[in-house]
Amino acid sequence: MPNSIALNYIGKVSSPYKEKFAIPRQPGLVSAAKGSITLLGDANTPELVRGLEAFSHIWVIFIFHGTQEQGWKPLVRPPRLGGNAKIGALATRSTFRPNPVGMSVVKLDSIDVITNKDCPKRSKNVVLSISGLDLLDGTPVIDIKPYIPYSDALVHAQASYAQETPKKTIMVSFSDEATSSIQYLNKTYPELENFIAQILEQDPRPAYKQNKQDDKIYGMLIYDLNVQWQFVSLSEISVINISRVINHIDNEVNNDN
Ligand code: SAM
Repeated sequence: MPNSIALNYIGKVSSPYKEKFAIPRQPGLVSAAKGSITLLGDANTPELVRGLEAFSHIWVIFIFHGTQEQGWKPLVRPPRLGGNAKIGALATRSTFRPNPVGMSVVKLDSIDVITNKDCPKRSKNVVLSISGLDLLDGTPVIDIKPYIPYSDALVHAQASYAQETPKKTIMVSFSDEATSSIQYLNKTYPELENFIAQILEQDPRPAYKQNKQDDKIYGMLIYDLNVQWQFVSLSEISVINISRVINHIDNEVNNDN
């Protein structure tokens, strides 16, 4: 194929976002989101990232693996335009594009070489800890580059419908039940309350529901938790409860017993 090129994944993202719903629309909007990138194959060598630890932020270039099978169309409806107006896919950051490639600036918290205890050979992996990500768990990474402010941060650039940071108009409260769960989970997830609040302040519902109240109880999957919440007024979301997700395999094991 003259117009094709083969790329190898150099790493994989481990993210608290286990499904697309409720992932912020851009990085940095939810600073309490913490994840990592594990380098893979030939890229799994500390030499490849030598010197990168001196940069506070990195560009992560990745594949929209969760939507790539759905293909693309030239026109898309950006949520920032209310989900009604159509605009060219290349004039947006939509996941549906001719090549399903995304790019996100994230904070680089640390770079470590970690022993894989699950592997009999106790192999080692280079792991980049990151925060502020907008990436689905399992996202394949095809490149990482240092973020360079003098060139990458153009404060006077025109950005059409996406000029302003999205406004936070929603207050987030927690039921007594949700508060006890947060206290119980504190050792495993110390920033859970702040993380959930930052996600919900963005109103993760589809664009056509923005600024509209509804009575639906929504659920979102973060870490191994199902977080249920509901609008109690146009400007307030209440987190109703937080429960651990028992996966299918665990159920099967339990049934066998
Ligand atoms: N910052 C990136 C960019 O500009 O290329 C992504 C922007 S895109 C609008 C952000 C959305 O992509 C998230 O809200 C989430 O729904 C979706 N997303 C993140 N990781 C994905 C993946 N691996 N596959 C499919 N969709 C993904």
